Amino acid sequence: MKRVGVFICHCGTNIAQAVDCEKVAQNAQAFPGVAFSTDYKYMCAEPGQDLIKKAISEHRLDRVVVASCSPRMHEPTFRKCLERAGLNPYLLEMANIREHCAWVHPDDKERATLKATELVRMAVAKVIQNEPLDRSTIPITKRALVIGGGIAGIQAALDIANAGHLVDIVEKEPSIGGRMAQIDKTFPTLDCSACILTPKMVEVANHPNVRLITYSEVEKVEGYVGNFEVTIRQKARSVDLSACTGCGLCTEKCPTKVPSEFEMEMMNRKAIYTPFPQAIPNKPVIDRENCRYFKTGKCGVCQKLCPAQAVDFTQEDQLVTERYGAIVVATGFDLFDDSVYGEYGYGRYKDVITGLHFERLVNASGPTMGKIKRPSDGQEPKNVVFIKCVGSRDEAKGKAYCSKTCCMYTAKHATLVREKIKDSNVYVFYMDVRTPGKGYEEFYTRTTDQYGAKYLRGRVSKIYEKGGKLIVRGEDTLLGRQIEIEADMVVLATAMVAKENAAELAQMIGFSYDQDNFYTEAHPKLAPVETHTAGVFLAGACQGPKDIPDSVAQASAAAVKVCGLLSKERMETEPTISIVNEAICAGCGMCVTVCPYKAIELKFIQERVDGKVINRRVASVNSGLCQGCGACTVACRSAALNLKHFTNEQILAEVDALCL
Ligand code: FAD
Ligand code: SF4
Ligand code: SF4
Ligand code: SF4
Repeated sequence: MKRVGVFICHCGTNIAQAVDCEKVAQNAQAFPGVAFSTDYKYMCAEPGQDLIKKAISEHRLDRVVVASCSPRMHEPTFRKCLERAGLNPYLLEMANIREHCAWVHPDDKERATLKATELVRMAVAKVIQNEPLDRSTIPITKRALVIGGGIAGIQAALDIANAGHLVDIVEKEPSIGGRMAQIDKTFPTLDCSACILTPKMVEVANHPNVRLITYSEVEKVEGYVGNFEVTIRQKARSVDLSACTGCGLCTEKCPTKVPSEFEMEMMNRKAIYTPFPQAIPNKPVIDRENCRYFKTGKCGVCQKLCPAQAVDFTQEDQLVTERYGAIVVATGFDLFDDSVYGEYGYGRYKDVITGLHFERLVNASGPTMGKIKRPSDGQEPKNVVFIKCVGSRDEAKGKAYCSKTCCMYTAKHATLVREKIKDSNVYVFYMDVRTPGKGYEEFYTRTTDQYGAKYLRGRVSKIYEKGGKLIVRGEDTLLGRQIEIEADMVVLATAMVAKENAAELAQMIGFSYDQDNFYTEAHPKLAPVETHTAGVFLAGACQGPKDIPDSVAQASAAAVKVCGLLSKERMETEPTISIVNEAICAGCGMCVTVCPYKAIELKFIQERVDGKVINRRVASVNSGLCQGCGACTVACRSAALNLKHFTNEQILAEVDALCL
């Protein structure tokens, strides 16, 4: 006969003001198997836990039910309490009478108390069925993978490497650096972006614990926390990195010119090129789509001239497979396609540009050597109009969310125009001004008060060309009037959106993403850098629009989680996983298709039937991959799968307790 102890928590007044805790404890005394029942003000506090331990010993309890808050909050606390009292931690059940009773029924104490009693009754029935479970351990591969070499990926890799662990960065472009490399100055301090980014790029490239794998992409991810097996495609660079000295002769002599992606197509690059002067590695790559040799079989100038004989047209993509203990995803963001707003004329009028074009225009190493000139005729613009929230906060045409950085970078751009062109006029059309960061509000105030940018609250309805000018027609909702501004240049504060292939990468690794394809954290407050897949962490703008300080902070947080994992030799795994009853498994494979973690495969077992040995297919659960979600147990028509700690028998015992 099992001896269950029931402990009802008041949670201060959180539960007690809506539930009669004393009465629930009294009611529980009558439930089959209950040997002891009591209530207390704060069960999770030290005196509360001491009370549980004392009762276990005095009343020889072998099962415990704690009725309090959500198990997400305190199940680990009470499991540890049981362990300290000498009981297996899985002989605990929790009844959530705070969120499920007190908080949802604050005005009906009688019924809330009745519901709490029933939840406790079910928990008692289940805990009687609970079995002691043991956590097993698995070895950990002591190397981390960071996908994406923007500022977030670089920071995460540096923090992991500085803690003494090995880390690889896989970057899909020929150089690390991400968007920050394109930015001129950074708000709110206006320090030069390259000056703070480049030293970090150099540090990460020279770090003995870091391996840079550029111009590469992850192609396949298998395995589980502690032991991921990742296949990486290293794209053919057509330049042997170990031989190339980075002299640049090939680039200089290459006859093919194409618009530079880095310079937002406002300048040309060659077919053999390094994306920007501070690129790392500072060695070229051949863009095979545009290279004459690859298109026509003629040319080969770069190969003939290269003094190091580093140009290699025969290179092929390489697939390499590596093992990692943890993965940080830091793949950043893209920009919304502004041409969706036909009324702004983006793509039609050369002088309607995005904020990122502006960053290159104002950059000393950019297409205009840092002089702000309009793209159409190279003239200095005197009237510059900025339009905020383009593609953001607009469910109809764009995204519902706020892109978080554009209020600040627009203020930065407005300041830079006024600083560089003293006789300029700057107008900013806005819906709201959002400045939630340290020093941000002060920066914005300086933009208006010191630099004289004129902020106009309202939407722009149309931009059209007239006499070489862009006429910006909009509304000033504060003054309630229509206005028209003759602009020389218009800069759109474009929404940050998820990377084009964001969903594909998440599906390949096996974690979730939201309706906008930004990656979903395990908990918005308590687990902001974890994903629901153990061992996979998030950093930077791939999780949602973010500025540099937030990206760096999140990257360091993810790195700490990775270091926590890699610092252990072995890792404990949760025992609450699925098990197969091979005797009744029909081998249909339904479970294989539903398992979101790819934890089940079919294997053959040998059986003797009527004296003959036959091979039969059955499901097999990988205990390292199974996350205990239970999807397979529901899908299995033979009821051959059962989830430990949530077995069919345990769940039915709860249902019976409620219904019988
Ligand atoms: P990214 O910079 O986007 O880097 C992601 C990296 O991952 C890239 O190198 C990309 O090539 C790589 N990658 C993507 N997919 C893959 C894949 N599948 N495999 C391998 N690699 C991959 N913030 C500020 O704090 N101050 C400013 O002044 C400022 N100005 C800005 C101005 C503009 C116009 C814009 C658009 C943004 C500005 N920001 C500013 C925001 C800043 O750009 C971001 O906060 C920052 O770039 C986020 O860094 P990240 O590493 O998360 O992403
Ligand atoms: Fe340029 Fe010719 Fe070399 Fe191609 S082969 S990268 S076109 S020089
Ligand atoms: Fe609009 Fe500002 Fe939000 Fe950008 S940060 S979407 S400009 S409110
Ligand atoms: Fe996969 Fe979930 Fe079944 Fe585990 S419980 S094998 S994770 S479906």
